[in-house]
Amino acid sequence: MPEDSIFCKIRDGQIPTPKLFENDKVFAINDINPVAPTHILIIPKLSKANIDSYSISELDIIASMFEVAKQIIHEKRLDNGYRLVINSGKNGGQTVDHLHMHLLAGREFSWPPG
Ligand code: AMP
Repeated sequence: MPEDSIFCKIRDGQIPTPKLFENDKVFAINDINPVAPTHILIIPKLSKANIDSYSISELDIIASMFEVAKQIIHEKRLDNGYRLVINSGKNGGQTVDHLHMHLLAGREFSWPPG
């Protein structure tokens, strides 16, 4: 399990970054390079690259990611809609090999993705 990702360093406070939310399983931060007016990353504390690396017994962590997303969506009143994105692997456009979900809002998004 890689423990040296940039998100591990943020999780552990080695790279000081304000956490918008944190519990025992998950934390959330603003993306450093936002592509929408709201661009939040929801990140499990467990450092595994992708959903396919998760065991059945760890799926509560994935559920927690969605719980946090839901909480932020309500708090920020994202009534006009939002997009939740998990980029995975090379073809998925993943650049940080530590699972994370993008919560994007504040503008219209096109479909399909490029
Ligand atoms: P992905 O391309 O799906 O792997 O997303 C990785 C995201 O992490 C990108 O949107 C980056 O802008 C973001 N990112 C990288 N380093 C940091 C950082 N230090 N703080 C916040 N977001 C970061």
